[in-house]
Amino acid sequence: MNVPFVSFKPMEKELDTDIRAAFERVYTASWYIEGKEDEAFEKEFAAYCGTKYCVGCGNGLDALMLALKALGVGAGDEVIVPSNTYIATALAVTYVGATPVFVEPDIRTYNIDPEKIEEKITKKTKAIMPVHLYGQPCDMEPIMAIAKKYDLYIVEDCAQAHGATYNGKVIGSFGDAAGFSFYPGKNLGALGDAGATVTNNKEIADKVRALGNYGSDYKYHHIYQGNNSRLDEMQAAFLAAKLPHLSRMNEERRRVARCYLEGIKNPEIILPFVPDYAVPVWHIFAVRTKRRDELASFLADKGISTNKHYPIPMHMQECYKELNIPQGALPIAEEISATELSLPMFYGMTDEQIQYVIDSVNEF
Ligand SMILES: *Cc1c(COP(=O)(O)O)cnc(C)c1O
Repeated sequence: MNVPFVSFKPMEKELDTDIRAAFERVYTASWYIEGKEDEAFEKEFAAYCGTKYCVGCGNGLDALMLALKALGVGAGDEVIVPSNTYIATALAVTYVGATPVFVEPDIRTYNIDPEKIEEKITKKTKAIMPVHLYGQPCDMEPIMAIAKKYDLYIVEDCAQAHGATYNGKVIGSFGDAAGFSFYPGKNLGALGDAGATVTNNKEIADKVRALGNYGSDYKYHHIYQGNNSRLDEMQAAFLAAKLPHLSRMNEERRRVARCYLEGIKNPEIILPFVPDYAVPVWHIFAVRTKRRDELASFLADKGISTNKHYPIPMHMQECYKELNIPQGALPIAEEISATELSLPMFYGMTDEQIQYVIDSVNEF
């Protein structure tokens, strides 16, 4: 049997009529940038996140970068980010000219360890960026307490966690602002690149919107040296067609995760840990084992595709040589990089596929 790492086909089949109708609507209107599709989606997505405002943009990296810029984070500032995340989190920080300061995760949850944040705070620290990695919410309460104590901004990286909840509250609504990605493979994905910043603060929302629109507050009037990063009408219409199905599709991912958690019984494999406060949305189902590469090829031989999130930690990347962080300095991030393997996880996995993955992992 073949089990892909991810397939959009089951979702596309179900939403075929809606997606084609969205295309027809935009194409017939013949209006592609800054219009009512974008406006409508932003309204619905803000409501989904429980925030007052949502500003669409070109991608998740821009959503984070524009949020930091709007908060005035820039050269000379430090921003606390987890040592194990997709590189975009750190790139958002360096794009605005600030310096990422890596804090190690909790090895059980893979999310930033609140107990290790304070020791990294300096006079230069401006913000904390918790990343709800793999679809699991960070421990937000202690993080918010630290931010309050030291007067720091919080910009949540929600790129992998649309709809995940912490103590019953949807992530993205805890910080001063939050960035979402609608990259096709994310839990809510466009048919191309797209992203959004959400916030409860009107000033931040207005500034993010202006910054992503050439720094313009009204046509041909420029108050900032901005970027061009907007959510186009076509992608907004596709996203609006998919959003009503997000909760149901996340629920289906939870079913797959439950099957894995109950079915995988192999002493070599460390399964994900879900704290009481968390309802994850399982963007990624991450297992760990000392024999990670062996497990990957064992599963590949059986027709099961896997992935590594992420094989090289950020401080070991060539682009961050300038940070001068030696190998061994962030042992937990390095351990996760060396041992993590992501199992197939997508909406519409069949019972046969799920069982085949479980049996194969148990056979290893
Ligand atoms: C995908 C992702 C991003 C960036 O989103 P893009 O839309 O690809 O720019 C940022 N942070 C994390 C954790 C991500 O997984």
